[in-house]
Parts: sequence; structure tokens; C-alpha cells
Amino acid sequence: MDYSEKIARNVAAIPRSGIRDFFELVQGRDDVISLGVGEPDFVTPWNIREAAIYSLEKGHTTYTSNLGLLSLRKSISRYVEGFFGVRYDPAAEVLVTVGVSEAIDIALRALLNPGDEVIYHEPCYVSYSPSILLAHAVPVPVVTTKQHGFSLKPDAVAAAITPRTRVIMLNFPTNPTGACASRDDLEGIAKLAIEHDLIVMTDEIYSELRYDDESHVSIASLPGMRERSILLHGFSKAFAMTGFRLGYACAPQPVIEAMMKIHQYAMLCAPIMSQNAAIEALENGRAAMLEMRASYHQRRDFLVRRLNEIGLDCHMPGGAFYVFPDIRPTGLSSKEFATRLLQEENVACVPGGAFGASGEGFLRCCYATAFEDIRTATERIGRFVNRLS
Ligand code: PLP
Repeated sequence: MDYSEKIARNVAAIPRSGIRDFFELVQGRDDVISLGVGEPDFVTPWNIREAAIYSLEKGHTTYTSNLGLLSLRKSISRYVEGFFGVRYDPAAEVLVTVGVSEAIDIALRALLNPGDEVIYHEPCYVSYSPSILLAHAVPVPVVTTKQHGFSLKPDAVAAAITPRTRVIMLNFPTNPTGACASRDDLEGIAKLAIEHDLIVMTDEIYSELRYDDESHVSIASLPGMRERSILLHGFSKAFAMTGFRLGYACAPQPVIEAMMKIHQYAMLCAPIMSQNAAIEALENGRAAMLEMRASYHQRRDFLVRRLNEIGLDCHMPGGAFYVFPDIRPTGLSSKEFATRLLQEENVACVPGGAFGASGEGFLRCCYATAFEDIRTATERIGRFVNRLS
């Protein structure tokens, strides 16, 4: 059968994730040190795992409300108010999702009509552009640069706004650059959103993982922004819970209601065992989270210093667990660099081009990896770069 005629055109048109392609190369190789996958190397803290086990043990294995357990939504509401300073009603303004991944997808589908434009900053998380395309909308990337620490400037956003713009998507700290947004820049972007009557989706998945002295600001907390923001957050990164597949969206009731309609037909609800574990994470997970963060902080400082010593110019990212060194002086494309580094030195990093055209010339190295492995990886990278020059 000719399946090319059977697959929907917008699905056929989107590329597979560059990360996935690259990691197929990694599989089957021994002794590879991976600075590749964006996943904590910590096992989920024991008390959180135990809460999932108790859920099974007590036979709490059913569907939940489509929105998620009310007890979890109450915990989320308290946590979000404490951390971000924005209050959401747990009864109607919080939706528990299958990871932030699902929340991004259903938020876009709930908001967009064919041909609507979505502005986002690039290099960015691999799902943004495909998710926009799958919602039949138009991705409008705004390039961020090393010179500005990959921060997003309001004037660049202003230049990208057209009469078709409906949504601005933000992600600070950013995957893959670790960039953070200053309050000033967020205020400038908020002003534009208000002037042009736009919705802002803010993916806060790395917001606990900041290493500078500034406290994290979400655009949703700025004056006039609560009513036009969708705050997306989850448990994968800060609480080392990737496999639990749990996230949430906070937004005004009509937006949550629209997202919930898609969620109830596509997912029904998030797994109850994960929801019970998430309550434990929010109520009693802070100490473990801070310990993991302190360890990432140390690893970041070491990795940035070593990469700069090796001659790969690397800005100091304020958050997340990625560094994004500049490999352009080596003359190799990001894919060539990453492929040869893997083949010749058994170190896996992700080619910057996987995060959009503006990521070309860079490499994403994830430091959520054991300190000794990071040390060995930098020795190998140093040897590789020396051979190139
Ligand atoms: N958003 C960003 C910026 C990410 O980096 C990731 C995962 O790497 C996700 C969302 C997906 O997270 P989740 O595991 O909650 O689906």
C-alpha cells in the first residue's frame, strides 16, 4: 500500500525530533557518556515513589476527575501561589495533564485557528514548532543570540507581531540555552501582549532550577497578565519525575474549560498513581529538590569553566540543566561535531540545530549527569577539539 497518501499532510510535513535521530546512533554503543537526554540523573526521591506505591497498595487505581484529583489541584494552587505569586482557583482554573508535553499541545489546540501565528523564541524546545504546525497554525520563531545570553528582547518580539499573531510562547529558563528572562524584558513583552490583545503561554518547567541570585519571575504574575496567561508547569525536572508523566496548566476558567474538552477526549485523565505522587512532591519534596539543585549548580559551574578552557566559548546560563557552547570556530556543523564526538570519543551531546535553525553552530550539553562522568566527558571533548585544531 502507498501509505504516503494515507498519512495526514500536516503530520507528514513535520520532521522527526533531531534528538531522537541522534539517540538512535547512541544506542548499542558501550562506554558512552551521555550529556544528551534532558533528564535528571537522580532517581525520584523516595517519599514521592512511596506515595505512588501506596496508591497502588491501597487500590487507588481508578480514573480521576478529568481535571485531576481535587486534592492535587489544591496543592498545585497553593504551590503556584507561593512560588509564582499568582492565585488560581483549584476548582476551575487548574488542569492536571500528562506532562507539560500534553499541556503545550492542548493549549495550542484550544487557542488556535488555521493560519493563526504563534511567536516563540529560538533556539527552543523541540516540540514547539511541530505542536504549532499540528494545530494548523504558523510558527514564528524569534531568534535569540549568544551576544544577549539568548535572552528575548521586547523589540524583537514587537518586530514579529502581525495582525495574525494570537499567542506568544515563552520558556524561561530555556531548553536548550539555560537563558533566563529579566523582569524588565518580561515587562516589555507583557506590555506588547496587552497592547495587541495576545495570549501568553509560559512554560515554567525549569523555573525552580535557577542558580543566579535573582528570584524567578513568571510573566503571569505581572500586572494585567493573569487574565491573558497560561502557566504550564510539571514535575519532570525539579522533582526528577520524568517517568510519572505529570504536568499542569493554570489559566482563567474559559481557557481551562477549552483545554479540558480536548484532554477529556484524548487522555481522559492523568494516571492516579502519578497524581498521588505529585501531591507528595508538592507538599514534602522541597528539601530533596533543593539538594538536587545544589548539585546541578556545582556541575554547571564546572562544565562551563572546562568548556571555556577547552576553547569552546560558553555563556554562563542562569538556569535549567543545559549549557550551549559555541562550536563555530571548529568549522564543523553541529551534527558533524556531535556525530564525530560520539564516534571518536564516545560522548553524546545534542547538535544545536535540533533546536531550530538558530541553534546551528552550537551544542547542547546536559549536566544532569554524574559529576565524574562530566569530568571524563570534558577530558574527551578537550582531546577531540585539540585534534581538530
Ligand atoms: N517543556 C520543555 C521546555 C522541556 O524541556 C520539556 C522536556 O524536556 C518539556 C516541556 C516536556 O516535559 P514533560 O516531561 O513534563 O512532558
